[in-house]
Amino acid sequence: MDPARLLDRRGFLQLGAVAGAATGAVLLGGCVGRLPAPTTTTTTLGPPVPSDWQALAASLAGTLVLSTNPAWQLDRLLYNSKFDLHPLAIAYCSTPDDVARCLDFTASHGVALAARSGGHSYGGYSSAPGLVIDVSNMSSISVDSSANTAVVGAGAKLIDIYNAIGRHDRLLPGGSCPTVGIAGLALGGGVGVFGRKYGLTSDNIRRVRIVTPDARLITADASTHSDLLWACRGGGGGNFGVVTSFEFSVHPMPEVTLFTLQYPWDASATMLEAWQHWMNKAPDELWSNCLLLSEGTAGCLAQISGVFCGSTAELASLLAPLKSAIATEPSASFTGSNNYITAMEVEAGCSGLTIASCHLAPEGKLSRSAYSAKSSYVDEPMTSARIALVIEAVSNLQRSAPTIGGGLAFDAYGGAINRIANDATAFVHRDKLACIQATYSWSAYTPSPEITAGAAWLTWLADNVFNPATGAYQNYIDPTLDDWQSAYYGSNLEKLVKVKRKYDPDNLFNFAQSIPTSV
Ligand SMILES: Cc1cc2nc3c(=O)[nH]c(=O)nc-3n(C[C@H](O)[C@H](O)[C@H](O)COP(=O)(O)OP(=O)(O)OC[C@H]3O[C@@H](n4cnc5c(N)ncnc54)[C@H](O)[C@@H]3O)c2cc1C
Repeated sequence: MDPARLLDRRGFLQLGAVAGAATGAVLLGGCVGRLPAPTTTTTTLGPPVPSDWQALAASLAGTLVLSTNPAWQLDRLLYNSKFDLHPLAIAYCSTPDDVARCLDFTASHGVALAARSGGHSYGGYSSAPGLVIDVSNMSSISVDSSANTAVVGAGAKLIDIYNAIGRHDRLLPGGSCPTVGIAGLALGGGVGVFGRKYGLTSDNIRRVRIVTPDARLITADASTHSDLLWACRGGGGGNFGVVTSFEFSVHPMPEVTLFTLQYPWDASATMLEAWQHWMNKAPDELWSNCLLLSEGTAGCLAQISGVFCGSTAELASLLAPLKSAIATEPSASFTGSNNYITAMEVEAGCSGLTIASCHLAPEGKLSRSAYSAKSSYVDEPMTSARIALVIEAVSNLQRSAPTIGGGLAFDAYGGAINRIANDATAFVHRDKLACIQATYSWSAYTPSPEITAGAAWLTWLADNVFNPATGAYQNYIDPTLDDWQSAYYGSNLEKLVKVKRKYDPDNLFNFAQSIPTSV
């Protein structure tokens, strides 16, 4: 069986989506010409008029795309195609200086702003009614193998990072979706298949270069602005300034073995029960997730898949107790050794594509997707009654909205993630067995009552299955969550608010779920 079909995590968010290239618009060339370094001003110049925008464009090394430009139609899009957002302009910044000029402009003219890297914010928070400060042009990646570090531009996409770092026989732990931007991922955590072995992406940040709201480029590391470094390790994107680059720790590449086990739906409860106990005792080298999916008219799917840092033979002996606890023959299975880059391509759903194709259309071959999601956590193994409720929930989705895809993914935490104290970085979720993500996705052809049924399903899950006291993952940012401040940040909220007051006292980086300047 095609391992991509069995392993692709990105596909989890695209179960109902229809593939197809987005229509392209021609990008305009860069506007060159530089102004002296911007000075921060508290003077409000009033809303920008066309000549102000022209002056901004002329001052940038990168490109400014105004809403009057045909390219804007494509450039305004985020990954989630349910959003129809209308920024006044998108600035493709090529340098930290460009970012500073944009921040100076937005402050002077009272224009709302949002930073954008990969554009995958679940809440659409990388767009704003004013200026989108896009960092994709700052995407260079350099690796120092002897120091085991990598400097990565804030606009780099995950597939390019894995490819570039992998060529030096090193890896950076991170998420699976190839088109996710490093800035949003790393600032909010970054959970992935090497997380139990090497920690979250945010745990591996050594240094950030960031343009603060007062248009200063600063470096935050362990000795300078260490409070800001602390906040950038899990405090969430879009809160303290625009990061222009990261320095990460990278790790020697291990031997990698992938596996997938699919079970008949009748065995799903036993499978989940066995998985949670098995993962609880697993070595750091083993990461795994458990999927319970409604695949629309194809029925429901129960699947465990994972990545092991070690050989096929070692994995076989680790899988043996799991298989015997489930005590049902898998309906399909796959185990195979891979190198790191190939493994990440499989996880990304990019098997058989070139790295260049493994990007969003029109540059690459991947399509956007429309979806909604919610997250929660599992603190300790679930009771049989709770497991029965989880299974029933997926069957309910299948019954109530048979043409959309969706379900639940349990992603294992533990290992290196949980060994870090919950106040050592802004990422507080350090004592969890697993993160649960519930999602459903749809296409342009999905009848709207089915989309509504999916939304009702998510609400029902939040009220009846999830335990709000366990928190929620800030990178699965959820505009419908009431008590999001404590769900995302728990006991770290107060310190985050202090850092926010220090670096962004005027709350210029402000969206519906941004860190507030007071609690
Ligand atoms: C298909 C898919 C798969 C995913 N898989 C995983 C996964 O495996 N593991 C995981 O942990 N997460 C995963 N995620 C969630 C992902 O980590 C978040 O959506 C993340 O915020 C996306 O980052 P981005 O840069 O692409 O998004 P953006 O929308 O560009 O940014 C997200 C937030 O960060 C801010 N931001 C962007 N750039 C900057 C910057 N330079 N400086 C400061 N703030 C900035 C934005 O303003 C926004 O608030 C997935 C998401 C999707 C859609």
